[in-house]
Amino acid sequence: MKPASLLAELRNRGIRFSLRGDDIIYRAPKGSVTPELLASFKAEKQAIVQELLAEVNMDESGFDHLTRMLQSEGESEFRHPHSYARLVEPIKSKLLSRVGLDINFVRGEGCYLWDVAGNQFLDCIAQYGGLPFGYNPDSIWQALQSVRINQLPNVATQSLLDTAGQLAERLLQVAPAGFKHVIFCNSGAEATEVAIKLCRAAKNRPGILSTRKGFHGLTTGSLSATGSESFQNGFFARCDDFEHVPFGNTQALAKALTRSPQHFAAFIVEPIQGEAGIVLPPAGYLSRVREVCDRFDVLMVVDEVQTGLGRTGRLFACQHENVVPDVMTLAKALGGGLVPVGAVLCQPDAYSIRFGLRHSSTFAGNALASACGLATLGELTAENEKLVRHVAECGSYLLHGLQAIQLQFGRLVREVRGCGYMQAIEFDFDVLKSQRGLMPVLVDQDLLMHLIVSHLLHTHHVRVAPSFMSRDVIRLEPPLIAGKAECDQLLSALTQTLETVENGNAAALVANLIDLSADERARIESARVTSNTSVREIA
Ligand code: PLP
Repeated sequence: MKPASLLAELRNRGIRFSLRGDDIIYRAPKGSVTPELLASFKAEKQAIVQELLAEVNMDESGFDHLTRMLQSEGESEFRHPHSYARLVEPIKSKLLSRVGLDINFVRGEGCYLWDVAGNQFLDCIAQYGGLPFGYNPDSIWQALQSVRINQLPNVATQSLLDTAGQLAERLLQVAPAGFKHVIFCNSGAEATEVAIKLCRAAKNRPGILSTRKGFHGLTTGSLSATGSESFQNGFFARCDDFEHVPFGNTQALAKALTRSPQHFAAFIVEPIQGEAGIVLPPAGYLSRVREVCDRFDVLMVVDEVQTGLGRTGRLFACQHENVVPDVMTLAKALGGGLVPVGAVLCQPDAYSIRFGLRHSSTFAGNALASACGLATLGELTAENEKLVRHVAECGSYLLHGLQAIQLQFGRLVREVRGCGYMQAIEFDFDVLKSQRGLMPVLVDQDLLMHLIVSHLLHTHHVRVAPSFMSRDVIRLEPPLIAGKAECDQLLSALTQTLETVENGNAAALVANLIDLSADERARIESARVTSNTSVREIA
């Protein structure tokens, strides 16, 4: 058996592997390994280590090359004029500063941000779904002010919280029928923790299944559900009893559940994998997951932290398939972009006395967050969900535009995909490796994606984000209020930047990192180059 097949077979039998340096640590359920398999494993151990290393490398974030670069520089002091960069996020800021992304925005309104110099930027990240109405939405500020004007107690544990009760009622009204309870928390990661606790307590079983490359947060429980070793490594995650199956594959799910009957309490899944690079499952996946979970008496948890509340052109993404999970997690958009809040909706079968008695959190259900949640639902449901329908329409418009870009840059763009305002463009940079000049070096050094993002920001004033888990993917998630004009601005910026890349104009990509006058920069940008022109020829 080839090492990859052997590894897959061992995993199918519930054996979990992790790398410790060049050695493998593995945990095997009792009786899962036959003497023949053990012999094959011993014979192929080094090849399996290589397989696992390759997986980790594939799973590495786009910043890993830069990380290695930082490590090779040693402990030198990071000098940066901004206190946030020096004191709060020195490592990330050091990386961002290398590619000109250590930018300081001083004002935000709607879909736009402004820097200290007064430059205006279209934000097509919107905090990965956390800013449904863009920056500083009036209606959400008014909700916050009403808490103050009415002198509401923000939190008062062991008492009945009016605003949280109202938000729970409203959430249950707008969500698919079947949910009965709402547990509040303060973030998406906490919502995952709540879901894990709910399901374990309700089923009295430890096992949590989720998907490879799925993202559910970075606290240790949610990190264990997150299916990425590059996020987990170094933190001694995954914790025990967490396993992963391929996304979109219900056969693998059923196989894992058959292998360990009565072990798993829940299967946690995103309707669309966001952090993985906007990965859509095959049609009908959620319905099949529902069916498999029912068959194996396992609770189905749908993580709608990113997809929920209008992002995909429906209020909840599971509505695309009319699926009602046992547990649904929400966060990000629920706070209207101003206040952190999370909420977990669950059906009666997922709620237990054990959980109800022993779970709490100091600021859960606070009045400020709940008022923002109510105002957010008000905005989303007004005029028969006008804003959500707008996202569906503009999302299709954006996708058509991206498809046109794919046609224009067929060699460079491998795929465009998405739903509503959750879209992605995936590149194939290998085609640039035959160019002369600097471009192949930027590809080899894993710098091209970051320079593209930097070019979009500085030259075209459009802010997008590379995917951390899939290094050739740009995520496009504008605020829900963005219209066709904003889509056009984004599409035009993408087109111009890709022309720059396809032309081999590496100088234009790095020009933002050099102290040049606007005229000099414009000259480099507009230099007529061919794919065989080196940087020296256009400088
Ligand atoms: N679940 C999903 C699907 C997410 O996309 C995220 C964050 O990106 C989380 C959970 C974690 O949310 P938070 O960053 O609020 O902890």
